Amino acid sequence: MSSTKEVAARLREAFNSGKTRTAEFRLKQLKAMLNLMKENEGALLEALKKDLRKPNFESIISEVLFTKNEIVCAINNLTEWMKPEYVEKTLVTKLDTCFIKKEPFGVALIIGPWNYPIQLVLTPFIGAVAAGNCAILKPSEVSPNSSQLLSELLPKYLDKDCFAVVCGGVKETTELLEEKFDYIFFTGGTHVGKIIMTAAAKHLTPVSLELGGKNPCYVDKSCDINNTAHRIAWARFLNMGQTCIAPDYVLCTKAVREELVPALINCLEEFYGKNPQESEDLGRIINEKHFNRLKALLSSGKVAVGGQTDEKDKYIAPTVLVDVKETDPVMQEEIFGPILPIVDVENIDEAIAFMNRHEKPLALYVYSTDNKVVKDVLERTSSGGFCSNDCIMQMTLFSLPFGGVGDSGMGMYHGRFSFDTFSHKRACMLRSAGMEKISALRYPPYGSHNLSMIEWTREIKEKGSVCCIM
Ligand code: NAD
Repeated sequence: MSSTKEVAARLREAFNSGKTRTAEFRLKQLKAMLNLMKENEGALLEALKKDLRKPNFESIISEVLFTKNEIVCAINNLTEWMKPEYVEKTLVTKLDTCFIKKEPFGVALIIGPWNYPIQLVLTPFIGAVAAGNCAILKPSEVSPNSSQLLSELLPKYLDKDCFAVVCGGVKETTELLEEKFDYIFFTGGTHVGKIIMTAAAKHLTPVSLELGGKNPCYVDKSCDINNTAHRIAWARFLNMGQTCIAPDYVLCTKAVREELVPALINCLEEFYGKNPQESEDLGRIINEKHFNRLKALLSSGKVAVGGQTDEKDKYIAPTVLVDVKETDPVMQEEIFGPILPIVDVENIDEAIAFMNRHEKPLALYVYSTDNKVVKDVLERTSSGGFCSNDCIMQMTLFSLPFGGVGDSGMGMYHGRFSFDTFSHKRACMLRSAGMEKISALRYPPYGSHNLSMIEWTREIKEKGSVCCIM
């Protein structure tokens, strides 16, 4: 087996050869990736089942179909994305060709988490390939079946000199981080994100950090309570609650809570039957460590529904907690499991103040049919993404950027945003070799006549004034 050093050196050499720079090469790799997804769907679903007992329905919509659509989006738009962007010019540069060239950074490192172990490694990878980079993928050791499958499949389909999968955990990632990469794209927890950024800083490597946090969900009295309960329950319990943009907790008044809780209870029975443990449509907690962490959180507040656990099956019933206080353990960390605490607030102002007392989340949700309420929450809070009257759906649009802000991360991707993330925007000016009389104005010996000429040609006038050059 080659060492991480050798793998990084091989990719560096391939990048320096220039082979990834052409649109033909990139398209060929993207098409190969699409074939990988199409020809191995069964194996991918099986690996996801082994790692998370993910229902096929969820694996298809959130991993396989999502990734295939990202690939097709890149294939369909690559030529357009790669085009140079011609920019506005000044009087002095009128005869020059001035443009932004999208160039690959070089060799990228993509580190992924375990909760959507295929999608969250391959989606940024699609952006890296489309932008002409070489890349090492480091999937999570916590989802070993999916990671192993990726490491077997990728070299069968893609150029082995340009792309590699390195499996392993902290030790292997730490070794990788000692190498100098040209871009690091990390998806995972906020704590590890800081470790990644510190390591990247040693080499001045730019990073995207796709992190987690607690996503608030305000439910207003004007909402349609039945639809709201369905949408929240689907988003919270999808993938057994292990979704970075799931609603982490609900804020509502006591009166709304009294209607919402029975609606959630009905909805859970509708979704998963009388005994959710027997449902084929519910995944499992990834491992014992997370099972024990989540079980301890069940002691916060009072269980309104759920609360049952089975350690051998890594099962925790979809649970709604009420009478939860801001200081309870369940409110101190990202839950990342099938538990939905409801915290009572007096009104919208208190809900907004609550959200703003905590770190900026990856997603923020509000349920209300009153546009004023939706607008109020949108205008007075901050988060990576926002959705009203639903959860998670904001990430299904490739035309919207996906990423965090503050503690939930930095940088964005999906669709064109992925291509832009992995592209250096090179400022290019192809200058005319002539027109020396104009150039000579800036040479010493400096004179006041030349200065006023330069001021006249270069000064940017405020909008509305007589002459506006830029
Ligand atoms: P994690 O941070 O523990 O691990 C992510 C990756 O980092 C893994 O590949 C792991 O091997 C590596 N890693 C772990 N510890 C490391 C260390 N000390 N040094 C170097 N590398 C290390 O995250 P996780 O448990 O796999 O995933 C859950 C977290 O990820 C949650 O917080 C969730 O919100 C977040 N997440 C965010 C997004 C997003 O798009 N923003 C998506 C999914 C998950």
